[in-house]
Amino acid sequence: MTSPTRVLVLNSGSSSLKYQLLDMRDSSRLAVGLVERIGEQTSRLEHTCVTSGDARERNGPIADHDAALKAVAEELTRDGLGLDSPELAAIGHRVVHGGMFFTEPTVVDDEVLTEIERLIPVAPLHNPANLTGIRTARALRPDLPQVAVFDTAFHTTMPESAARYAIDPKTADRHRIRRYGFHGTSHAYVSRETARLLGKDPSEVNVIVLHLGNGASASAVAKGRCVDTSMGLTPLEGLVMGTRSGDLDPAVIFHLARVGDMSMDEIDTLLNKRSGLFGLCGDNDMREIRRRIDEGDEEASLAFDIYIHRIKKYIGAYFAVLGTVDAVAFTAGVGENAAPVRQAAIAGLEGLGPAVDPERNSVRSGEPRLISPDSARVAVAVVPTDEELEIATQTYALVGKNN
Ligand code: ADP
Repeated sequence: MTSPTRVLVLNSGSSSLKYQLLDMRDSSRLAVGLVERIGEQTSRLEHTCVTSGDARERNGPIADHDAALKAVAEELTRDGLGLDSPELAAIGHRVVHGGMFFTEPTVVDDEVLTEIERLIPVAPLHNPANLTGIRTARALRPDLPQVAVFDTAFHTTMPESAARYAIDPKTADRHRIRRYGFHGTSHAYVSRETARLLGKDPSEVNVIVLHLGNGASASAVAKGRCVDTSMGLTPLEGLVMGTRSGDLDPAVIFHLARVGDMSMDEIDTLLNKRSGLFGLCGDNDMREIRRRIDEGDEEASLAFDIYIHRIKKYIGAYFAVLGTVDAVAFTAGVGENAAPVRQAAIAGLEGLGPAVDPERNSVRSGEPRLISPDSARVAVAVVPTDEELEIATQTYALVGKNN
């Protein structure tokens, strides 16, 4: 019998389950879908069989992740792609926090589950949902390798000088406080694809990756290894995001507690859910912000300027961290689609080397592409991210190695 070549990728959120089934012979998608509002009366499953083009929807209560995955399995079975298929090689799970322990994708066993569980205090929103997804999938196909692919893994190569906060190490170690970074799967994929776009091996180039989605982070990648990233202990640090503040003076928190009389939970909600672009102007979608700016809206315009200023600061910092830079790469929803953001973020940096060609920047495409003029000393690229493909690739590579 030929070896199985399909990988199911699962991304479990607190109330959602996203999935893709890929065939690793050519990295093609066989099926994609999403279950939303798990645990509510208005749950919804959206499923597309890519090979037949058949798209289906289910509405109605789906009680928990177990029921959600069973519903997904039923849809896959209807397309002849069921989880019992001998062609399924493994299930790859996105896990947000792998701490310092998980530096690579890892085949899940009881010990791995315990370790992911131990990381819950530093990832209270994400790791419990990721764990539920793994346990559910394991119960459904106990014989199949389940692989955990960690958002933090790519950043574990950061030197201590970048990963440590300047606080007493005993306190830091006791509470596992350090800079872990997130979006690592995307930073890994995009930095590698950027090297490919330049016709080079990842080990030959230094790249600054700007992952600008609703969450946003920057990373400095030296010869294929991450040496710094903007997110820290949690995904709150760094760039201005859709609803997160990114960097601020930690004393703002003491001030809000002491003078503003806010509780820790209220401050947490303020900084994670009601700040960033949304906090500044009431919108977190870049399309809406650009539309308002075009109409002369000053609040939206200031929010945009603050957002861009922060990106510029990180680009400058990472030039200093890397010493020499071959490319700056934009990715994720905003980075891939918002030409004005790319133009504004690079404007004025010509002295450092990167520049944007307005015509190239205005082209809309789903392909990796250069948007800098040929004369630029540092290339500027748009590289669509593909976290599911990266998870599937890492999962398949690991399972292939173990077979
Ligand atoms: P996440 O995965 O963090 O939820 P995405 O990477 O999908 O986010 O990015 C979503 C964001 O991308 C939206 O909130 C919006 O601001 C932005 N976006 C999507 N499409 C466009 C577009 N055509 N123009 C400008 N911004 C866009």
